[in-house]
Amino acid sequence: MSYDENNVFSKILKGEIPCELIYEDDFSIAFNDINPQAKKHILLIPKGKYISMDDFSEKASQNELISFFRAIGVVARKFDLDKTGYRILANHGPDSHQEVPHFHVHILGGNSLGPLIAR
Ligand code: 5GP
Repeated sequence: MSYDENNVFSKILKGEIPCELIYEDDFSIAFNDINPQAKKHILLIPKGKYISMDDFSEKASQNELISFFRAIGVVARKFDLDKTGYRILANHGPDSHQEVPHFHVHILGGNSLGPLIAR
Protein backbone atom coordinates (compact mmCIF):
# COMPACT_ATOMS: atom_id res chain seq x y z
CA MET A 1 0.00 0.00 0.00
CA SER A 2 1.42 3.37 -0.99
CA TYR A 3 0.84 6.68 0.74
CA ASP A 4 -2.33 8.47 -0.44
CA GLU A 5 -1.45 12.12 -1.06
CA ASN A 6 -5.17 13.01 -1.00
CA ASN A 7 -5.85 11.87 2.56
CA VAL A 8 -7.33 14.52 4.80
CA PHE A 9 -4.30 14.90 7.09
CA SER A 10 -2.01 15.32 4.09
CA LYS A 11 -4.32 18.13 2.98
CA ILE A 12 -4.14 19.70 6.44
CA LEU A 13 -0.33 19.55 6.29
CA LYS A 14 -0.37 21.21 2.87
CA GLY A 15 -2.73 23.94 4.15
CA GLU A 16 -5.52 22.86 1.79
CA ILE A 17 -7.91 22.13 4.68
CA PRO A 18 -8.08 24.21 7.88
CA CYS A 19 -7.52 22.80 11.36
CA GLU A 20 -7.37 24.10 14.91
CA LEU A 21 -3.59 23.93 15.20
CA ILE A 22 -2.42 23.65 18.78
CA TYR A 23 1.19 22.51 18.44
CA GLU A 24 3.97 22.40 15.87
CA ASP A 25 7.62 21.41 15.87
CA ASP A 26 10.11 20.36 13.17
CA PHE A 27 8.61 16.90 12.77
CA SER A 28 4.95 17.01 13.80
CA ILE A 29 1.78 19.02 14.32
CA ALA A 30 -1.20 18.59 16.65
CA PHE A 31 -4.76 19.79 16.19
CA ASN A 32 -8.19 19.18 17.66
CA ASP A 33 -10.17 16.22 16.34
CA ILE A 34 -13.19 17.36 14.31
CA ASN A 35 -15.42 14.81 16.07
CA PRO A 36 -14.18 14.71 19.68
CA GLN A 37 -14.68 11.48 21.65
CA ALA A 38 -13.62 13.11 24.94
CA LYS A 39 -13.62 16.62 26.38
CA LYS A 40 -10.11 16.96 24.99
CA HIS A 41 -9.38 15.00 21.81
CA ILE A 42 -6.17 15.94 20.06
CA LEU A 43 -4.54 14.37 17.02
CA LEU A 44 -0.75 14.39 16.79
CA ILE A 45 0.61 13.62 13.33
CA PRO A 46 4.12 13.48 11.87
CA LYS A 47 4.92 15.84 8.98
CA GLY A 48 6.46 12.88 7.12
CA LYS A 49 4.40 10.66 4.83
CA TYR A 50 3.68 7.62 6.96
CA ILE A 51 0.52 5.59 6.54
CA SER A 52 0.18 4.19 10.04
CA MET A 53 1.97 3.17 13.22
CA ASP A 54 3.38 0.17 11.38
CA ASP A 55 4.87 2.30 8.60
CA PHE A 56 6.15 4.96 11.03
CA SER A 57 7.78 2.48 13.41
CA GLU A 58 9.52 0.76 10.49
CA LYS A 59 10.64 3.73 8.38
CA ALA A 60 10.86 6.91 10.48
CA SER A 61 14.30 8.24 11.45
CA GLN A 62 15.52 8.22 15.05
CA ASN A 63 14.93 11.97 15.20
CA GLU A 64 11.36 11.63 13.99
CA LEU A 65 10.60 8.78 16.39
CA ILE A 66 12.09 10.48 19.43
CA SER A 67 10.60 13.86 18.62
CA PHE A 68 7.15 12.38 18.04
CA PHE A 69 7.05 10.56 21.38
CA ARG A 70 8.36 13.63 23.19
CA ALA A 71 5.64 15.70 21.50
CA ILE A 72 2.91 13.48 22.96
CA GLY A 73 3.99 14.49 26.45
CA VAL A 74 4.48 18.14 25.51
CA VAL A 75 0.97 18.37 24.06
CA ALA A 76 -0.62 16.54 27.00
CA ARG A 77 1.13 18.83 29.50
CA LYS A 78 0.09 21.91 27.51
CA PHE A 79 -3.51 21.10 28.50
CA ASP A 80 -2.68 19.81 32.01
CA LEU A 81 -3.74 16.30 30.98
CA ASP A 82 -0.71 14.92 32.83
CA LYS A 83 -2.46 15.99 36.05
CA THR A 84 -5.83 14.34 35.46
CA GLY A 85 -4.81 11.54 33.10
CA TYR A 86 -5.07 10.78 29.43
CA ARG A 87 -5.08 7.95 26.92
CA ILE A 88 -3.14 7.64 23.68
CA LEU A 89 -4.44 5.51 20.86
CA ALA A 90 -3.20 4.72 17.36
CA ASN A 91 -5.05 2.65 14.80
CA HIS A 92 -3.39 0.56 12.11
CA GLY A 93 -5.29 -1.17 9.36
CA PRO A 94 -8.77 -2.61 8.83
CA ASP A 95 -9.35 -4.41 12.16
CA SER A 96 -8.68 -1.14 14.00
CA HIS A 97 -11.01 0.77 11.65
CA GLN A 98 -8.28 3.27 10.84
CA GLU A 99 -10.08 5.98 8.91
CA VAL A 100 -7.32 8.35 7.81
CA PRO A 101 -4.25 6.72 6.20
CA HIS A 102 -1.70 9.16 7.63
CA PHE A 103 -0.17 8.04 10.94
CA HIS A 104 -1.70 9.79 13.93
CA VAL A 105 -1.99 9.37 17.66
CA HIS A 106 -5.20 10.29 19.42
CA ILE A 107 -4.63 12.01 22.78
CA LEU A 108 -7.81 11.78 24.81
CA GLY A 109 -8.56 13.29 28.21
CA GLY A 110 -10.31 15.98 30.18
CA ASN A 111 -12.86 13.55 31.60
CA SER A 112 -13.02 9.94 32.81
CA LEU A 113 -12.56 7.77 29.72
CA GLY A 114 -14.21 4.49 30.71
CA PRO A 115 -13.16 1.06 29.45
CA LEU A 116 -10.27 0.74 27.04
CA ILE A 117 -12.20 -0.94 24.23
CA ALA A 118 -15.91 -0.65 23.46
CA ARG A 119 -17.43 -4.09 22.71
P1 5GP B 1 -8.72 7.01 12.83
O1 5GP B 1 -10.01 6.23 12.84
O2 5GP B 1 -8.10 7.05 11.46
O3 5GP B 1 -7.77 6.53 13.90
O4 5GP B 1 -9.10 8.47 13.27
C1 5GP B 1 -9.29 9.52 12.37
C2 5GP B 1 -9.75 10.73 13.15
O5 5GP B 1 -9.66 11.87 12.31
C3 5GP B 1 -11.20 10.65 13.63
O6 5GP B 1 -11.25 10.77 15.04
C4 5GP B 1 -11.90 11.82 12.91
O7 5GP B 1 -12.86 12.48 13.71
C5 5GP B 1 -10.73 12.73 12.60
N1 5GP B 1 -10.90 13.55 11.40
C6 5GP B 1 -11.36 13.13 10.18
N2 5GP B 1 -11.38 14.16 9.31
C7 5GP B 1 -10.92 15.25 9.98
C8 5GP B 1 -10.73 16.61 9.61
O8 5GP B 1 -10.95 17.04 8.47
N3 5GP B 1 -10.23 17.45 10.56
C9 5GP B 1 -9.96 17.01 11.82
N4 5GP B 1 -9.49 17.92 12.69
N5 5GP B 1 -10.13 15.74 12.21
C10 5GP B 1 -10.62 14.85 11.30
